[in-house]
Amino acid sequence: VCGGLGCESVAGAAVLERLRATVRDAGKAEEIEVHLTGCRGLCEAGPIVEVELGDAARRERRLYLRVDEAAAERIARAHAEDRPVEDLRSHHDDPFFTRQTPVVLAHAGEIDPEDIETCIAAGAYSALEKALTQMAPREVVEEIVRSGLRGRGGAGYPTGLKWSTVAKAEGSRKFVVCNGDEGDPGAFMDRSVLEGDPHEVLEGMAIAGYAVGADHGYLFVRAEHPLAIARLRTAIAQAERLHLLGNRILDTPFDFRVDLRIAGGAYVCGEETALIASIEGKRGSPRPRPPYPAASGLWGMPTLINNVETLANVPAIVAQGSAWFASIGTEHSKGTKVFALAGDVVNTGLVEVPMGMTLREIIYDVGGGIPGGRRFKAAQTGGPSGGCIPARHLDLPVDYESLQAVGTMMGSGGLIVMDESACMVDVARFFMDFCREQSCGKCVPCRAGTVQLHAILERITRGAGTRDDLQRMEELIELLRATSLCGLGQAAPNPVASTLRWFRDEYLAHVVDRR
Ligand code: SF4
Repeated sequence: VCGGLGCESVAGAAVLERLRATVRDAGKAEEIEVHLTGCRGLCEAGPIVEVELGDAARRERRLYLRVDEAAAERIARAHAEDRPVEDLRSHHDDPFFTRQTPVVLAHAGEIDPEDIETCIAAGAYSALEKALTQMAPREVVEEIVRSGLRGRGGAGYPTGLKWSTVAKAEGSRKFVVCNGDEGDPGAFMDRSVLEGDPHEVLEGMAIAGYAVGADHGYLFVRAEHPLAIARLRTAIAQAERLHLLGNRILDTPFDFRVDLRIAGGAYVCGEETALIASIEGKRGSPRPRPPYPAASGLWGMPTLINNVETLANVPAIVAQGSAWFASIGTEHSKGTKVFALAGDVVNTGLVEVPMGMTLREIIYDVGGGIPGGRRFKAAQTGGPSGGCIPARHLDLPVDYESLQAVGTMMGSGGLIVMDESACMVDVARFFMDFCREQSCGKCVPCRAGTVQLHAILERITRGAGTRDDLQRMEELIELLRATSLCGLGQAAPNPVASTLRWFRDEYLAHVVDRR
C-alpha cells in the first residue's frame, strides 16, 4: 500500500489494515505479506495498492487505484484464493508507469521506508559497501564525474566537479549538506523521495562524505514535511543500529553521522549560503559569493551541498557504474529527472523520466493529456525561478540546455501544466507575489524590485495598466537580474520575462492603450 502523503491523506492506513485483516482471516498471513511502500507517483488516484505475484524467478504485478476498504477486502480475498479481482482493473500496464524510467524512484514502490530490512533486501547500502571496500575516495569522485550527473536542485552544476573541488579543499574538517528545503509552489519531489526511500538519500550522503573526506552530514528538511522527518529519524536510528551510519561504518575506519536540521520554511533558505547560516543557528539570509561553500561553508569549513534528488542518484551510479548512468538521457544531461506533474493534466503526481523526453510525451503519454479535451496552452517549469513554455515548443526535449534556450530552467522539478483557460499575466503575477513574499529583504533590488513588479502586474490584471508598464517591467527585469545579491532575486523576474516573451499578446490585451 502506497505510504506517500497523498495516499495517507485519503485513508491509505485504513486500506492497509483492511488488507492485513482480510489476509489474516483467510488464513494466509504466512503466505501473503502486506506492507507499506514509498510513493507510487499517481498521487491523485490514491490509495494505491500494488500486488506482487510469484517468486524471484517470475514476478507479475497488479496495480489498483482509488482503493477503498471494501475494494481492499475484495483484492485480498481474490488474491488469497488465486483468482482475478472482480470489477477492478489493474493499471500496471498504464503508460503512466510503463513510460517512466525509475532510477531515484526505483525502489520506492517495493520497500517499506520504515523497515530497513526491506530496504537492504532491495539493495540499500550495497553501494556504500562497494565504495568503502573496493574504491578509494578519489575513484568515487571520478565515477561521479564520469557519470555526468548534474545538480537536480537548480541550474544543473556538474556534481562531480563540485565533489572534486571539496575533496581537494584544505580544512581541518569537512561537511556534507543535503538541501531538502523544497519550497517551489507545486513541487514535492524531494519530500516524496525522503518519505519513500530515506535510506537512498542517507546512503548517498555517506558515499559523498567518504568521497570528499567529510565525517559529518546535515540534512536540512522543512518542518512542514512531518512524515519525511519522522521517516528520516527512523531511518537514521535503524542505520546507526546496523553500523551503516555512525562510527566505523561496516567495520571500516570510515565514520559518518547525519543530523537533521528542521527548516522553518523560508524560501530563501534553499539558497546555499542562507541554508548554511540557518544550520549554524543564524538568521537564514544569503551572503555574497565567493567564497563558495566548497571552500568556506559550514563554520568556515569546506562543505559539499547537494540537493535530495542529486544525492539519491549516487547509490545507483556507484552500484551500477557511471557508464550505465551516462547511457540514460542526452549528451549533456545524463540520467533521469523526477517531476512533480501538476495543474491541468489527467495524471497528477510524481514521475521520473529520462532526460530528453519531450514535453509532449511527458504531458500526453505519461500525464494522460489535458482533461476535458481542452487544448494545451503552457507548461511552467522551475517554479518561481523558471518560466513558461508555450504550445509551439511541445516537442522540446526536456533537458537543461533546451529549457534554458526557451527562457526557463529545469529547477528542482515542478512542472505545472496549463490549459487554454489560463491567463498568463495572472500566472506571472502569482509567481511574483510569491517572490515578493519570500524576498529576505537584505538587498534593495530584490526587496523593492519584486514589490514594484508585482504592483505593475496587479495593475495590468486589473485592466488599469499601460504599454509603458510593459517597458517598465522590462527595465526592472534587467535590473533585478544584474544587481540582486542571490539567486532568488536574480531569477525572480523569470516568469514575467518568459510570459512577456511568449504571451505578449495577452499583456497587450490587458492594457488600456492596447492600440
Ligand atoms: Fe534577499 Fe532577495 Fe537579496 Fe536574495 S536577492 S539576498 S532573497 S533580498
